[in-house]
Amino acid sequence: MPSNEGIVFFMIQFNKIAKIYNRKYVLKDINLSFKKNKTHVFIGSSGSGKTTLLKLLAGIITPDQGELQVFGHEDLRSKDYLSKLGYVVQEGGLFPHLSARKNILLSLKNSPMKPKEKNEALIHFTRLVHLNEYLLDKYPHELSGGQKQRVGLIRALIRNPEILLLDEPLGALDPIVRADLQTELKDIFQSLNKTVFFVTHDMNEGAFFGDSITLLDNGLVIQNGTFEELVRKPKNDFVTKFIKSQLSHRLVQELAHAP
Ligand code: ADP
Repeated sequence: MPSNEGIVFFMIQFNKIAKIYNRKYVLKDINLSFKKNKTHVFIGSSGSGKTTLLKLLAGIITPDQGELQVFGHEDLRSKDYLSKLGYVVQEGGLFPHLSARKNILLSLKNSPMKPKEKNEALIHFTRLVHLNEYLLDKYPHELSGGQKQRVGLIRALIRNPEILLLDEPLGALDPIVRADLQTELKDIFQSLNKTVFFVTHDMNEGAFFGDSITLLDNGLVIQNGTFEELVRKPKNDFVTKFIKSQLSHRLVQELAHAP
């Protein structure tokens, strides 16, 4: 059977994308293709351009050069495209004057679901992310950073979006909740066939989630590939240094020499 993988699955295309702020390139010559229904990690040091890439995908900003296409959409500000997105920013991005519950239900405003179904979905996702139900009636200023992040996650997941954009969504969580949630989120992404873009600066998290990893530095893509490719066939010393600085030496050696 002829393979049409290239046509069907590379649904997200960055073509010579650049973004300029204050006459300085913060993203330059970005050429990337991503498959549908996979988790793609953007990783790099602070200021490397990860969030800017995500904001382009979220339709919040537009490129100054190049073209970006997602699932056939070229206008990433169209209602049709935005309805397919779930976007989680650091600390949840909640409305301060609304309770957690109202923040979440707001994202179902145009949903055909009945109130009872909305409430069931709310409880389902609240349990899934290990948030105590009584916190749903608190306002954002009464919640910790990690709690706000989880409310933000519920708000994105409950709409069952095709594309999830997650900007360091687990950054403010304590290690045990974080490890639990990593496992559960990965299951959700896989079982529900989500296309996920995940920003992190943590290579352990990147390796855990990423079907592909894009390593950025200073607005440039240094390497894009699987975690194994980055370890075994690093494009340059920066890639090796970045990985080694975050993972144990033994693990890197094992991966590099595994059959
Ligand atoms: P990261 O997410 O990797 O930490 P960002 O994508 O947020 O990095 O930022 C990349 C670069 O772009 C940084 O130097 C940042 O200061 C700059 N930048 C981001 N947004 C703006 C903006 N709205 N105005 C000016 N500079 C910006």
